[in-house]
Amino acid sequence: MSPAEPQTASQAPDPVAHIGAAIFRRLGVDGVYARTALYEDLVERLAAFITRQRDPRAEVLRFPPVMSRQQLEKSGYLKSFPNLLGCVCALHGSEAEIRAAADSHETGGDWTKSLAAADLVLSPAACYPLYPLVASRGGLPRGGLLFDVSADCFRREPSQSLNRLQSFRMREYVRIGSPQEITEFRDQWMGRAEQLAQMLQLPCTMDVANDPFFGRVGQVMAVSQRQQSLKFELLIPYYPNAVPTACMSFNYHREHFGTVWGITDAAGEAAHTGCVAFGMDRLAVALFCIHGVDVSRWPGPVRQALGF
Ligand code: ATP
Ligand code: ZN
Ligand code: MG
Repeated sequence: MSPAEPQTASQAPDPVAHIGAAIFRRLGVDGVYARTALYEDLVERLAAFITRQRDPRAEVLRFPPVMSRQQLEKSGYLKSFPNLLGCVCALHGSEAEIRAAADSHETGGDWTKSLAAADLVLSPAACYPLYPLVASRGGLPRGGLLFDVSADCFRREPSQSLNRLQSFRMREYVRIGSPQEITEFRDQWMGRAEQLAQMLQLPCTMDVANDPFFGRVGQVMAVSQRQQSLKFELLIPYYPNAVPTACMSFNYHREHFGTVWGITDAAGEAAHTGCVAFGMDRLAVALFCIHGVDVSRWPGPVRQALGF
């Protein structure tokens, strides 16, 4: 699934290689693309389609692509996915020190040796900044809370595949409340997601999943996550017999974020949380792979659902 890659004899023919040429422009780094008007128009329609499914009680928050490093550290991200994290670094110090570091580049030196970590990381998922924000408001109201959040996310997983970007957009509905409120929310959304895929005529399956926790300890975490059915994914094959791509995920974090941030429910217990994540880029790429790059020829009901 490499975008507009010249084929070599050893490569199996890629049934969706031509899609990349219509939707992305290479920027010199794998998994980082400029997006064409055709593509962005679809992403916007998809975002509006998801907004139309929103519970009117949801509070909307849009996050920037960076977040507090300290908050992400406290969330436990370094235990689970240290390999995926991108940290913002900058040149610090006096004018002379910064000038010397930057100028070393001109003489073949390595200016990056002078970088020091700033207080920011690149957000690896849209919901991380939400929990400390909610905690700062005090205890949860009865019935808990519901949010609609999104962010440009970064994960250090360079790839030439159209479905694995380093910089991609994530939209999430997030529920904070009692265990029962979270499981109800997640079950509802899993049913709903299959209906939405049907409206968009995207073939899909729903399956239990695990996060790619880092290292050997991570393998144990992944098994436990599966055993407890904490994560499900909506999987879409981009072409017949393709390994399906996870385009949405349905996550139950139990009391993890409630405990870390001291969010308590109406009964004074650590709040439980869950989220439904829409991989905006993966869904958009799926639509182009399955229905083609000529949107005027997409099935009528799909065009209607997306407001064409
Ligand atoms: P995968 O196992 O395929 O890497 P994930 O389990 O890491 O997926 P989540 O952490 O659940 O994915 O992220 C939520 C959603 O964000 C995914 O369902 C997917 O649609 C999207 N997503 C995750 N990683 C990427 C990526 N590298 N490029 C594009 N979209 C992504
Ligand atoms: Zn989330
Ligand atoms: Mg992943």
